[in-house]
Amino acid sequence: MALIVHKYGGTSMGSPERIRNVAKRVAKWARAGHQMVVVPSAMSGETNRLLGLAKELQPAQLDAAAMRELDAIAATGEQVSVGLLALALQAEGQPAVSYGGWQVPIQTDSTYTKARIEAIDDAKVRADLAAGKVVIITGFQGIDGDGNVTTLGRGGSDTSAVAVAAAMKADECLIYTDVDGVYTTDPRVVPEARRMHTISFEEMLEMASLGSKVLQIRSVEFAGKYRVPLRVLSSFTPWDINIDEEAVSGTLITFEEDEKMEQAVVSGIAFNRDEAKFTVVGVPDKPGIAYQILGAVAAANIDVDVIVQNVSHDGRTDFSFTVHRNDFQRTNDLLKNTVLPATGAAQFTADNRICKVSIVGIGMKSHVGVASTMFRTLAEEGINIQMITTSEIKTSVVLDEKYMELAVRALHKAFGLDAPETVA
Ligand code: ASP
Ligand code: MG
Repeated sequence: MALIVHKYGGTSMGSPERIRNVAKRVAKWARAGHQMVVVPSAMSGETNRLLGLAKELQPAQLDAAAMRELDAIAATGEQVSVGLLALALQAEGQPAVSYGGWQVPIQTDSTYTKARIEAIDDAKVRADLAAGKVVIITGFQGIDGDGNVTTLGRGGSDTSAVAVAAAMKADECLIYTDVDGVYTTDPRVVPEARRMHTISFEEMLEMASLGSKVLQIRSVEFAGKYRVPLRVLSSFTPWDINIDEEAVSGTLITFEEDEKMEQAVVSGIAFNRDEAKFTVVGVPDKPGIAYQILGAVAAANIDVDVIVQNVSHDGRTDFSFTVHRNDFQRTNDLLKNTVLPATGAAQFTADNRICKVSIVGIGMKSHVGVASTMFRTLAEEGINIQMITTSEIKTSVVLDEKYMELAVRALHKAFGLDAPETVA
């Protein structure tokens, strides 16, 4: 008998029919003798609907008082889905009870709309499990020290599930979703992409931060910190699929690096179109200049990703950086109105038609020449690299967005990811 946490995303909870399917699947796991905690998201589209309603009525400036209400509103989506799932389980003859984050409680800080989990009291949950009930806990929501309902940020149910699994020292946390695992890259771009049987936690963290939408990045951080065994798998298999088969399907996020080191040097290719590039041209090259530019950007609460400063000529240099595309206009205005006058730079250019393509693999730690294979592959396709950034286990390049799919396909092939995985 094991203690298992299941998490179901919005699509898996999308209709009464789907919820009934989830209930049958969970009941099957309970009948197999496992203690089951289930963390569902709101029904698909529901959080958007709720926040859309709020948008029609909210004040122009969102202060803490307004953010508090947004969380109270958004949290109701999960409140409904846990109740529905509990009813569906009971209808299957499986005793079940649902709790809101505030009832458990899942204690968070007070940062509305992106609260962080601080503690989870599992006493009630354990008592219910011992009494033979399936316990269903809302994803996405918690309660702060003053009793206010908080939410964990969009996609936060993943984090709720992993946090519950960590707090309860669950044997495994299974994230059921509408894809059947983590792929070497997006199969919509590269049809040859294949599901990985395992991915190391560090790689998963990079993939999540580089644009792979499979798991919320904070859930991966949480899993790493508390070493929660995590598996991503499909909720679209028939509910009555053999449980032993189901238990090893999908992609397992592992902590055994050494095992993985023997395998592919590059495990996956991530990409996104979410960024925009700015280049401040002709900046006087003197101490403090990076701070003058990026300090102003940071003060405006704009996150900077890739940064490149060129060699200088005649005491002047060019300075490029990328930001999220949502911040394009704000960054543009800030450079024009604040940074140019303050730095004495000649001008700046702005480009929101870029993309970032990254290769990820812990094998890169112990292999040389990986980045150069990447650069050669792109050169052979005639693709110009605008910026480069590296870490121990990834290399990212910024390219013209029109080359994104070509680059991803070429790299997927160059690193041998098109070939079927050899399973030991
Ligand atoms: N319902 C929330 C959202 O749509 C949380 C989640 O689905 O994980 O962002
Ligand atoms: Mg999700």
